[in-house]
Order: sequence, then C-alpha cells, then structure tokens
Amino acid sequence: MSTVSASSARQARHRAGPSPQQQPSGLPGAGHLWSRVLLLVIWAGVPAVLAIWWQDTIPGSLRGGGDYVTAAGRLSGLLAAYLLLVLVALMARIPWLENRVGSDVVARYHRTLGEYTVALAAAHAVLIILGYAWQSGTNPLTETGTVLFHYPDMLLATAALALLVLVGVVSARAVRRKLPYETWYHVHLLVYVAIALAFAHEFSVGADFSTSPSNRLLWSGAHIAVAAAVLVFRVVVPVRRSLRHQVRVARVVSQGPGVVSIHLTGRDLDELGAQAGQFLRWRFLARGLWWQSHPYSLSAAPEQGQWRITVKNLGDSSAAVSRLHSGTRVWFEGPYGAFTEQRRSPARKVLLIAGGAGITPIRALYESLPGTGADVILLYRATRPEDLVLYPELQDIAHRRGFGLYPLVGPRTGPQGDPLSAARLRQIVPDIAQRDVFVCGPGGMAEAAARQLRRLGVPQRRIHREAFEF
Ligand SMILES: Cc1cc2nc3c(=O)[nH]c(=O)nc-3n(C[C@H](O)[C@H](O)[C@H](O)COP(=O)(O)OP(=O)(O)OC[C@H]3O[C@@H](n4cnc5c(N)ncnc54)[C@H](O)[C@@H]3O)c2cc1C
Repeated sequence: MSTVSASSARQARHRAGPSPQQQPSGLPGAGHLWSRVLLLVIWAGVPAVLAIWWQDTIPGSLRGGGDYVTAAGRLSGLLAAYLLLVLVALMARIPWLENRVGSDVVARYHRTLGEYTVALAAAHAVLIILGYAWQSGTNPLTETGTVLFHYPDMLLATAALALLVLVGVVSARAVRRKLPYETWYHVHLLVYVAIALAFAHEFSVGADFSTSPSNRLLWSGAHIAVAAAVLVFRVVVPVRRSLRHQVRVARVVSQGPGVVSIHLTGRDLDELGAQAGQFLRWRFLARGLWWQSHPYSLSAAPEQGQWRITVKNLGDSSAAVSRLHSGTRVWFEGPYGAFTEQRRSPARKVLLIAGGAGITPIRALYESLPGTGADVILLYRATRPEDLVLYPELQDIAHRRGFGLYPLVGPRTGPQGDPLSAARLRQIVPDIAQRDVFVCGPGGMAEAAARQLRRLGVPQRRIHREAFEF
C-alpha cells in the first residue's frame, strides 16, 4: 500500500465537487459554542468570589502596605478555593460537560485551571504570612510559627496545601510522562482530601465566612452541590448502569500484531443512546484488570445491543485485554464524548483524518455518517502499511457507500514529503475549506494536521478533535 496516487486524487476532486446546499453557515460548531458557554459559566463565578471578599473589606480598612498584602492573600485564597471546586466539578462526569463540551476540552480546562489553582493557593499562604508579619511588625518566620500553631485549623490547611503542591508536581508534563498512569491518577485523587482539609480553616479563620452566615451558607451549598455531582455521576450512575445492563465480553478478535477488537453484549444497551465517535471507561472484571478503568472508543457504530472496541497494545492493561475470555463481566462508565455527528454543521461535507489508535472512533463515524460518494472522505495516516488497522473493514464501507478512502502511508520525511502537508491535503480534497473535519490520532499528528487545515482555510470551529491523552 502506498500514499495516495495522482489518479485517486483526481477521482477525489471529481467526487468532492461542491454542491449548492453546502455553503458555509458561519455558525460556530456546537462543540465550540458549548466550550464558550462553559468558560462563561466559570468566569461568572469570579465576580461572585470578588463580591464575597469586597463585602468584608471595608474600603477604608486598607490603610497600609500590610493591609494590601493581606487583602491580596485573602483574595488569592478565595479564588484558589473557588477554582478547586471548579476543577472537581469539571471532572465529575456531568453529562452536559462530557457530551456537549467534550471530555477532552473539559480535561484541557481542568489542566490549565489546575496550574492557576496551585499557584494561587501557594500565593495565598505566602501573602497571608507576609501581610500579617507586616501588620504586626514581626518577621515572616516568627509569623509562620504563630499562624501555624495559634490559629485554628492551620495545620490541616498546611497539609492541604502540601497535597495540592504534590498533585501539581506530579501533573507537570515532565514528571507525568515518567509516571505510570495509575500512580498519577491515584495521587491526583488526593485533591478531594485537600479540599476537605482546607474547608475547616476557611470558616474558622477566613474573615469572609466567619462573620457572614449567608456567605457560609452559599459556600457550603456550593461544596455540597459539587460533592453530590461527583457521587451521582462518578459512582451511582455507573454502578446502576453496570448492574442493569450486565455487559460481558462476547469475543476477542485479533486485528493484527498488538491490536484486538473486543465485542461486547449486554441487556438493553440501546437504552444508553451510545453514538458513533463516543467512548466509555471500561473496567474488565478479570484478574489484574478489575481495579483500573481505561477509556476506549466504540470502533463500530453501536447497533442492536452490540458494542465493539478496538484496543492497541500500548501498556500493561491494553496488553492484558487481549487475553480476556468470553463471558468476562465488564463494568463501564459512559457513554461519553462530543466527537459525534452532532458536531457536524448541517448539510456540510466531512473529512475524517485518523492516525494510529485514533482510527477507532473515526471508523465508527465513517460507517454511520449520512451521505453518499464524496460527502465523506477518510484519510488514514500510518507509517507502515501493517499499521493500517481495520483497513479491510474501511474498504468494505467505502465500497458500500461510495465514500472516499485514502491511506497515507510513509514517513513524514520520505521522498514524497509529508503525507499530511497542506499541498497533499488540497490535492486529495480540493474543497477541504468547505468541509467539517474530524481528526483523531497521536497528539503530534493531530496538532500538525490541525495546523495544515487552518492554513488551508478550515476555520477552527469546524476542526473537531478527539484526544486520546487526558
Ligand atoms: C477518550 C479516549 C479514547 C480512547 N480510545 C482508544 C481506543 O479506542 N483504542 C485504543 O487502543 N486506545 C484508546 N485510548 C487510549 C487508551 O485509553 C490507553 O492507551 C490505555 O488506557 C493505555 O493503558 P495501559 O495501562 O495499557 O498503558 P500505560 O502504559 O499505562 O499508558 C499508555 C498511555 O495511555 C495513557 N493512559 C493510561 N491509562 C489511561 C486512562 N485510564 N485514561 C487515559 N489515559 C490513559 C497513559 O497516560 C499513557 O500515555 C483512548 C484514550 C482516550 C482518552
């Protein structure tokens, strides 16, 4: 198999001719719109936090440098506490967030806000100590001892800060890359402990709450709401669904070296409304696997109570999955994800770009997107022909539906140049700027493809991506 030939490019040009009803609508894609709504909601909380702070900051009380530093310390503490709640809410698997905004976008916001949160919490501690020391004319070291041992709940709050810093350190890219996913994940759960430890000092020392019952009520209500969301969507719903639908492994089929498809059956799976392009978090109740859950996309359009995932052996768990037996019980969370047909602008043609394990949701979309002929084109990027997993199935779909299918095989720096260069993309899909583009593949490939797409005039709002790394 080789990269696309000149004749197939001509064929694509012929298939991909524009049609009058497919003019750009100019509306933002659904996913992008919902991400903006989410950002607005998060930002809306900031004035509320400022109002809580302002209410207790009698303007005339800010007289000297020490007052200003203390005020900055209180403000950074309030913002850190607010952002901590936002971080937990973002990861609560709230269906609107997972399925409208998209799990990958939510994870990206979580990551970025996480960095600010740790910085604000550390700034809070430093500024409060400096401010108090300034106000009372002591040195910061003595003031640290006073705050730690004479103010209520400060040892708990210090432990909370230490945990937050630890989570921040293990989440730094350089450190995270070196850690097994499970280690990173379990350390990350300490954020819940940090919130619980920090809560007491907010009420006992925080002037904004100790003197205002209404602020205490509001703050407690926000914590209870977020805790309830975590409990319902991360525990109750998955347990109820797993018990109700009784999902089991039906069979495991090899798809080539290091890749297997797992067919799953269960009771009334259609009720769950899973869509092509979505993923679930799977917990296989087998030795060595039951204690961890991993996200895998549906690799075929869900139908008649049957699901299928395709797993590439990238580590311990994905390798062990190939040894599963028929009948193994499976617990699951989901379906999740907004990488679905709903992201497509109405009546617009679609280009799908896949690489590596990213073919799985793309394969399901390719099978189920409406249209005929050049309405849907799939570019499948691989370094070697044997990496084109599921290719015979794709050929079969292309044959049945007349969709375009182009394997782009070869190294990035081969004699023919980068198979995903802007020139090559335009050659294969001349009307590319008018299409909605769905991209799923390794981070570097997806990023490079998105860059070329923008160069070719595809607006950001019509580039839909699914990331396999959270
Ligand atoms: C939304 C989504 C959909 C995915 N769909 C597929 C798919 O259809 N087919 C497929 O082969 N792979 C898919 N993946 C990737 C797959 O989840 C990981 O390859 C798998 O979890 C690796 O686990 P491991 O223990 O075998 O490997 P490890 O060696 O532990 O990890 C290998 C890589 O996977 C990441 N990873 C490990 N566990 C998780 C986890 N629970 N959640 C997120 N990332 C993790 C690690 O950070 C690392 O980058 C998907 C990932 C995401 C986020």
